[in-house]
Amino acid sequence: MLIGAHESISGGFWKSVVRAVEDGCEVIQIFSGSPSRWEVPEIQSGEAALFRKELRKAGMRTVLVHGSYLINPASPDPDQWSRSLTAMIREYGRCRAVGADFLVVHPGSHRGQGAAGGVERSAEMVRGVLTEWEDGPMILLENTAGSGSTLGGTFLELGRIRRASGFSDRVGYCFDTAHAFAAGYALSGDGGIRRVLDEVDREAGLDLVKAFHLNDSAREFGSRVDRHARIGEGLMGLDPFRELVADAGLAGLPGVLETQPLPVLHGRYRDQVDLLKGMRVKGRIRPR
Ligand SMILES: [Zn+2]
Ligand SMILES: [Zn+2]
Repeated sequence: MLIGAHESISGGFWKSVVRAVEDGCEVIQIFSGSPSRWEVPEIQSGEAALFRKELRKAGMRTVLVHGSYLINPASPDPDQWSRSLTAMIREYGRCRAVGADFLVVHPGSHRGQGAAGGVERSAEMVRGVLTEWEDGPMILLENTAGSGSTLGGTFLELGRIRRASGFSDRVGYCFDTAHAFAAGYALSGDGGIRRVLDEVDREAGLDLVKAFHLNDSAREFGSRVDRHARIGEGLMGLDPFRELVADAGLAGLPGVLETQPLPVLHGRYRDQVDLLKGMRVKGRIRPR
């Protein structure tokens, strides 16, 4: 697995790459604008060119964009849904501008109106975005902790959205370890990762998992509460991370940290990136 972190774009997109390099990242995830604002400016061509140049300099080939938190693809409110669609179409355009490989999105919340309708609306939104843009990054549906009306607690549900979108070839999955743990996928313990990956394979197809979010969970197994913890400081233990980053079948896939960074100016994720990279090296020399 290639290790990276979610980096801030504050001060310009190119600065996120500088931060990633300071952290020792091999891949990078960013927001394409403020994730808590509806109105996000277009990315100027100069800004995008600068970002791409930094990426080339750093030898970083995989870029993930995490979708805005305001967008709710499963919203039962027509106005909210339309607003989300417009925002997601624009966001996809920004992903194309910076040359992103993947746009990671949450499937959304049906707000108590039932999962079946939510799945339909979520799929409809993915279809709307991919119809608008002929080409561009693959959309990755991220699994969630599955609390309340939130869709995506299982890969089975993500699979339904993907199939119903009608764009199966342009939609895959992002596997968040903390969300999976909270949703009740037994990642920890002996052989846990293998069993869970087999389960995901049966539910949705492991080959469609194109990226991982490597987060420990501050909340207990099956709690359905989404609280990330730094690697080794949550309740998952180190074993799942060791097995994931060293797994030969997942080699080359991006694994991104979304945990609390250190309160320093430079190298805010360095310790956690190094920890994960170290596990990978050890994993390789360990007989399988
Ligand atoms: Zn996410
Ligand atoms: Zn995540």
